[in-house]
Amino acid sequence: MKVLLLAHTPEPEKVIATAAKLCYSSSDISSLKDGLTEEKTAEFVNMLAAIGHESVMEHVSFTFGIEGISRACSHQLVRHRIASYSQKSQRYVNENGFDFITPPAIEALPEAKAEFDRQMAALTESYNKIADLLTESHKQQFIAEGMDEKTAASKARKMANEDARFLLPNACETKIVVTMNVRSLFNFFQHRCCNRAQWEIRAVADEMLRLCCEVAPNVFGRSGPSCVMTGRCPEGKMTCGKMKEVEVEIQGAEKWVS
Ligand SMILES: Cc1cc2nc3c(=O)[nH]c(=O)nc-3n(C[C@H](O)[C@H](O)[C@H](O)COP(=O)(O)OP(=O)(O)OC[C@H]3O[C@@H](n4cnc5c(N)ncnc54)[C@H](O)[C@@H]3O)c2cc1C
Repeated sequence: MKVLLLAHTPEPEKVIATAAKLCYSSSDISSLKDGLTEEKTAEFVNMLAAIGHESVMEHVSFTFGIEGISRACSHQLVRHRIASYSQKSQRYVNENGFDFITPPAIEALPEAKAEFDRQMAALTESYNKIADLLTESHKQQFIAEGMDEKTAASKARKMANEDARFLLPNACETKIVVTMNVRSLFNFFQHRCCNRAQWEIRAVADEMLRLCCEVAPNVFGRSGPSCVMTGRCPEGKMTCGKMKEVEVEIQGAEKWVS
């Protein structure tokens, strides 16, 4: 799995402090940034986080490139609606010989791993077979309709991919670019850095949070799973019961800021 921070709003903490200052002072727009030293900005941002004034956080966005994750993981990611996504297409990109993600628990169990690999190989073979059959069938149809052979072959392959992909598993590797504003990231981290989140999206979320902390430590210093961010666990009976341990792990976390 690879998670890269591709871009972010310049001077993120200053943008947030400026927007907030507008709410609380009579300054003109042109003088809003005056006096916002690094120290003052940090103080302001910490105060906003403490009182939960989160709408000002929407002015700052982070864009990540993520690859080497499964479609099972990306499906969970795109459930977060307050975001923008661009994902590798299984229509335009041929998936013959597709890469796949093997869960660590399967990797660790030789018998399970052998079965998993057998099924991936079988799916690859079926995908290729069905794609070839469909390509030939569509191609003949296009040629019969008067299309030249080269155009017919290329159009037929894309159409074939569209249906052959129904065979592809949740394990299939994907790449995705995601942009979220800070408020949405807070919500994302609350859900997905949680012990109750699935291991793969949790690893993605942990790495995204680490990258955010490097750029804007005052904004993201209190960010993390709900128990860390709000002081309470919303999982009810399904709580991991490790609130204290999670808090200690995150607060003392060299893993967030390298
Ligand atoms: C441990 C775990 C288990 C899960 N299990 C399941 C499951 O079994 N089945 C399943 O379907 N999903 C499941 N989910 C997904 C979950 O229900 C959410 O869809 C997902 O986490 C996205 O969260 P969100 O809606 O808060 O994010 P976003 O879509 O980014 O929304 C952010 C916030 O905006 C507000 N908002 C957005 N859209 C609306 C709207 N239409 N109306 C009102 N308010 C809105 C809400 O306050 C929301 O919290 C699970 C998630 C987790 C973390």
